[in-house]
Parts: sequence; structure tokens; C-alpha cells
Amino acid sequence: MQISLTNSPFKTHHQIFPFHQPFFFSPKPPLPHQLPLQHHVNNALKGSSGYLSEISRAIDHEEQYRLARQQVKRKGVDLEGLTIEGASIGGQETCIIIPEFKCAFDIGRCPTRAIHQNFVFITHAHLDHIGGLPMYVATRGLYNLKPPTVFVPPCIKEDVEQLIDIHRKMGQVELDFDLVALDVGETYELRNDLVVRPFRTQHVIPSQGYVIYSIRKKLKKQYTHLNGKQIEKLKKKGFEITDPILSPEVAFTGDTTSDFYLDPLNADALRAKILITEATFLDDSISVDHARQHGHTHIFEIMENAKWIRNKAVLLTHFSSRYNVEDIRQAASKLQSRLTAKVVPLTEGFKSSYS
Ligand SMILES: [Zn+2]
Ligand SMILES: [Zn+2]
Repeated sequence: MQISLTNSPFKTHHQIFPFHQPFFFSPKPPLPHQLPLQHHVNNALKGSSGYLSEISRAIDHEEQYRLARQQVKRKGVDLEGLTIEGASIGGQETCIIIPEFKCAFDIGRCPTRAIHQNFVFITHAHLDHIGGLPMYVATRGLYNLKPPTVFVPPCIKEDVEQLIDIHRKMGQVELDFDLVALDVGETYELRNDLVVRPFRTQHVIPSQGYVIYSIRKKLKKQYTHLNGKQIEKLKKKGFEITDPILSPEVAFTGDTTSDFYLDPLNADALRAKILITEATFLDDSISVDHARQHGHTHIFEIMENAKWIRNKAVLLTHFSSRYNVEDIRQAASKLQSRLTAKVVPLTEGFKSSYS
């Protein structure tokens, strides 16, 4: 598995500087050059070892601060050969972008990077997931990009049409896009080597997730004994000599309770190379019951359902805004070891206690 974020920089620091751990939770101290001169002199007089250890502590802090800032600022996560961009903060915005597939899962507040994606897959109609849709369609028009294709659960298609119509009327603008109602179990061809299928999720309003499959062509069994020339002949005669093989690449759940793990029809989502799912709540301050009542997943339930997760990588999203980067990393590190090895939390947009 190729992942770039599995190892928390803080873990590394704890390994290298275990004796500095308490400072990780304390406010950032001033750097040596920020301390008054008298302070340096006093310390130098106390003995060179005290002075050196203070410098070493300050350097350690500066390094932790730099890594924390990097974490807050970084754009994109590399997982299994795909770059995944975007942001997801529970109740505020969720838009996950996969430039290689030219697609975005949900549109959130329409981040700039989403505008260049041709396909948007909407999981449900909560504003933190669909709010930016009119801006997305309008901005593509403004940039003369081709009209996008937006996929929605069938039950909200009419409302979305009306919503865009109201914007057309109010703004007296042309808003050009293809709206596709795609139901669970249906398949839509995005490219000749890529298809998408919705799957069932459980939220407080109608919702669905999406799996993107790559298509490989495999020679039919009855032709495997033939040589190249014979195969070429059959091809010229118009025989269908290959079978399409679908492999699930990426699954995105959007908001859901953990019940989605138990639906046997969701097997492909749970064996896709990458699963992008939610863990809105991360600690004891919010109960599993509360998470369920609000249509969300508690990270404790991900631990309970670990045995169903056969994905190579799992990107956790949609954390409540009450958490900061350190809370999220700490919660992810408490998962079972077979999960922590493949789980990456998406922390873009979250504050660090060091920032
Ligand atoms: Zn949400
Ligand atoms: Zn929601």
C-alpha cells in the first residue's frame, strides 16, 4: 500500500524525543532568538548544559510546530497511486476530489479545485454536501468549461432541477449541466475504462454512496489457447473476444451510520482499493447512540466493524469541528493495529493546537 500520511509526525517525535512529550500538549515556548538577551546570559551562567538543553528543546518545538503547520496546510493525500484532495468537516463542508478520475464526491462549498472536475457525485441533500452546487455549475460556465455531469439520488433530482432553475431566474444566467438520477444498483459509464455505481447508506435523510470501478478487458476463456494471429483474425471478423472485468477502485460513503458495513450488497465498497468514509465522532464525550441518532458513525463503531474492512486504504473524513488535528491523529492511532496501518485521517481545514 502506498500511503504518505500513515505515520503521524508526532509519533515520530515521541520516538525520537520521548522525554519532551509533555511539551507537545503545552503552548509553544519562545525560540532562542526570541528570548531576551539577559535570559541567555543567565542561563549561560548557570552552566552550558542547561543552555544547550534549552536550545535543543526549542529546536524540538520548532520542528513540531513546522510539522503541525505542514499538516494543516497540505493539499492532498496520496493513497494507492491516487491523489485525493478536498476538505471534509462535519456540518461545514465535504468535497473530496480525485483529479485522476476528474470527479468530486459531494461539492461542499465548491472549493476552487472542484471546478475543474467534470463529474460530481452527490450523496445527499444536506447543505454541507450540496450547498456549493449552483456555484460549481455557474463557475464552470464562467470559465467556458464543458457542462458538468452531476449525479444525485433519484429522490432529489426534481428538487435539484428546481433549485438550479431558481438560480437561473434570479440571476438571469444560463446554468448548463447534465443532471443524472442514478439509483442503487445502476451503472453509468464515465469513460471507456471507468464506471460508477451507487450503493446504499443510512443517514437521517435519503442518501447513497458511490463506487468507481476500473474496467480491464480479459480474453474470453474459450480463446486463451489461440495465438496472436488467430485472435487478430477473430477481432477483424467482429467477434467479441474479451470479457470486461470490473475492479472497485474507490468507494465514498458520505454521511452514514455504521449499518452500511453490515449490508451484504455493499461488499464492493468494502473491498475497493480505497474506502473514503466518515467518523464524525472520536471520543467518549459523544456516545455511539448519539452518533447513530444523528445518522453518523462513531470511530468506536469502525473498530467494531474492522473485520468487514477489506480495503487497502481507508480515508477517514467528516470529523466534527470540535476536534483539532492532534485529537484526530490520536483517535486514529488508537484503532486496532491492522486498521491503523491503512487508515489515514483527512485533516485539511482543521486547526492544530500548534497553530
Ligand atoms: Zn455532513
Ligand atoms: Zn448529512
